[in-house]
Parts: sequence; structure tokens; C-alpha cells
Amino acid sequence: MDTTSPRFPANVREAFSDQQLQRALSKVPHGFIKKRADARDRLPEFDQLRDQARDIKNHTLAHLDLYLEHYVDKVEAAGGRVHFCTSADEARATIIDLCKGLDASTVTKGKTMIGEEIDINEALEAAGITPVETDLGEYIIQLRHERPSHIIAPAVHVNKDQVEADFRRVHSHLPPDRVLEEASSLVNEARQVLREKYLAADVGITGANFLIAETGTSIIVTNEGNGDLTQTLPKAHIVLATIEKLVPTLEDVSTILRVLARSATGQEFSSYTTLSTGPRRSGDPDGPGEYHVVILDNGRSRMLDTPFQHMLRCIRCGACLNHCPVYQAIGGHAYGWVYPGPMGSVLTPSLIGIDKAGHLPNASTFCGRCEEVCPMRIPLPSMMRHWRERQFERHLTPQTVRWGLGVWGFFARRPPLYRLLTGIGARALKTMAGKRGRLNSVPMAGGWTKHRDLPAPAGKTFMAQWKARGR
Ligand code: SF4
Repeated sequence: MDTTSPRFPANVREAFSDQQLQRALSKVPHGFIKKRADARDRLPEFDQLRDQARDIKNHTLAHLDLYLEHYVDKVEAAGGRVHFCTSADEARATIIDLCKGLDASTVTKGKTMIGEEIDINEALEAAGITPVETDLGEYIIQLRHERPSHIIAPAVHVNKDQVEADFRRVHSHLPPDRVLEEASSLVNEARQVLREKYLAADVGITGANFLIAETGTSIIVTNEGNGDLTQTLPKAHIVLATIEKLVPTLEDVSTILRVLARSATGQEFSSYTTLSTGPRRSGDPDGPGEYHVVILDNGRSRMLDTPFQHMLRCIRCGACLNHCPVYQAIGGHAYGWVYPGPMGSVLTPSLIGIDKAGHLPNASTFCGRCEEVCPMRIPLPSMMRHWRERQFERHLTPQTVRWGLGVWGFFARRPPLYRLLTGIGARALKTMAGKRGRLNSVPMAGGWTKHRDLPAPAGKTFMAQWKARGR
């Protein structure tokens, strides 16, 4: 497992100087943000649905053991099998055993972030089994040997020319003089190549957006229909999910689905919402002969009954990434592990430890937009603050930061002195900014101004302005 902390500052510097990445990131706000806002405006009860979705997940997490038991009973009654795994190692071993038991040589995969979390592709390859990603974005990054840079748009950092070059490099069996200039020709080529893979696959592995306790059903939502082909055509379907995907009933999931697509892509509903319950039954025209659900914990049960339990409500819509000024500046790979953006800044330390992911909860301006847009009303900034506190308590914060906070604490406990010094500082910064009103270098705060200007303060502190108004 990679450690994210030591690499984060270098990753950020690299991201800032990558012009192609910066161009790709500059498009993120215009697409996702506007579409979500329009979708929200078209649904007057949107905020009410968010409350209901939050309450459904809170209720499920409070009774998770019962709902898991019920879910297992229903899956088994439908002819499937559930495999509980506490760790990534156990989940990898379980999936490899299942694939070997089926003599699998090729496995198709629908999009699964849990697969990334446990590095299942590497494990399959090491076992002599070829994994093939079928989501277009995932397929592109598989060809590039990269991780997803966004949880719903894995190849958001890549442009059309790069995809064309990758396709020409890997699809060397196709005529070299074919025309691939349009995005549609790239999509058609991927479709043509993947179609053969679907037919050749022995096993299909998909993630699950939800597991329904009432019926033993797994649900995936996609916009490409790749999930359906992945799970229907091979001999066996393996669902790879985590414990918090449980939802009590189909009625409950229909509430959450109404906020999921709107928050993710601004669609009323994703193009495909696929429900799977057990293997093919006699009389079914198609479907897998075996149906397995691998349910992974990997540290999530440790989050229950802690301030981080809220994070287990996450439905991976990506809205917090799209609205985050830090994600917009550095992209997903800089976060160094599977989950980027604000949700990753909370989840990654919970899963791999704050000692390995200490930079992440600090990679936030605390502007609060992530919490504002989260369909599950997850208090991301306050959980990042919890992580910062734990980091401080465990003496993991760098000495310079501890020293700076100590100095700040000294003055903050002496209000007259604090006001005097902040007043001097505000005036000095305003003078330094001059007529332009912006600073491009601030003593001892070069990190703020290295890649952007800082608007000059008003010249008076907030308290001084408040007093001047006679309040
Ligand atoms: S934390 Fe909220 S906004 Fe972010 S991915 Fe999860 S559900 Fe979506």
C-alpha cells in the first residue's frame, strides 16, 4: 500500500507545472458544477430528499449487523454466496480462488473503486488472469497504467490526443491508417475492442453502488451499459462491495438514486441502473451460472461509532471533488492513493492511518462547498478538522506548524496584543499591495503566493471595522 504523506507536496508541485493537466482541470467546474446546479433547480424537493437519504443511511449504519445478516440470507436464498473479508489481502485471495476455481483466464470488470483499493488487477495479473476494464474511462487509464483521477470520471485528466496515441499503441492489430480524430471514433473503437473481450471473459467483476437487504440484490449505475455486459455474459459474476453499501429496501434506494445522478453528472437518472439478484435461474434467457458477493471491511467497521462514521454514508457521487478548489487545482493523482478530493481527505486517513495520510486533511481551504453540495450531508470539513486535531495530539504535525500554532495561541490568549499586531499586519499588507490591490509575495507565506496572487486585506481588521460601525 502506498504511503501518501511523503509524496504529497512533490505531487502537488508536479500537478501545478503540468500544463496539460491544468487545462483538463479548468474544464471540471464548467461541466459538472453547472449541470448539478441545473438539476437541483429542476427538483424543488432536492434538499428534502438529501435529508431522507442521510436518514436512511444513518439508520442502516446503526443496525448494520442486522441488515448484513438479512442481506446474506436473501442472497443465499437466491442461489448466490457471500464472502466476508476483513482485509484487502483476504479479498484478493478470495477473488483469485474463485477465478481459479472457474479456470478463468480473462476477467472483465465494471467500474469498482474497491477494486482499486485492493489492487485487484495486479493480483489477477500475478495469478496469470487478464483483467479488462470495460468502463471507457477505466479502460483508458488501464492502458496508461494509471489510477483513476476522479471517482466518476477516471480519465478526466487525459485529452483526446493522448487517448488516440494510447489506442494506436495498444490496438496494433487494427489498420494504422484508420481515422481517429473525433471522440466518437475513439468510442467506437473501444466498443469494438471491448465487445470481443466481453465474449471471451470467464468471470465478470463489478462494484456495487448499493446492496439491498430486503431482496439480496446488488445495484450498479452506469452510463455506458458496460456493467450489464460484464455481469451477464460470463460464467460467473463477482460483486465486490464494502459493508457500508447496504440499504434496507428498494424503496430506500429509490430515494438515494434520486440524489445520486443529479449530484454526480446533473442527470435526472443514470442511463443504466442494473439490479442483480443471484445467478441465472432455470428459464432465464441469460445470466451468470454463479453469483458471488465479496463484502470487504478493510477498516470501515472501525469508523462506526466514531466522528468519522458520517463518511460511511458516502455514495461516491464526486460532487465534493467537483466543487473543491484544491481538487480543481491539483487533480486526483496528487492525493497519492485511491480516493481524491475532500471525501478522500477524510476516508484515506481512516483506512490507511493518519500517520500515512497526514497531508490530506490539511489540503483544504475549509470553504465548506463540499459539505454544501454533498447529497448525503456529510460534514467533510469538521471531519478534516478532527483529523488535524488527532494529528496534533499524536505529534505528527511538523515542528514548524506546531511552533507557529504555539505563537498564534500565545497572542490569541492576549486579545489587546493580538488586535494590535493583526492591525499592524493588515495595514502593512495593504501598503505592500499598493494600487494593484494584490500581493504576489508574502513574507513567511510563500506557499500561498507561489502560484497565484493574494487579494490584499482591507487595511483594517474585522474587529476594527466592526467597532468603527459603532457595533
Ligand atoms: S462525500 Fe458526499 S459529495 Fe463527496 S462523493 Fe461522497 S456523497 Fe458525494
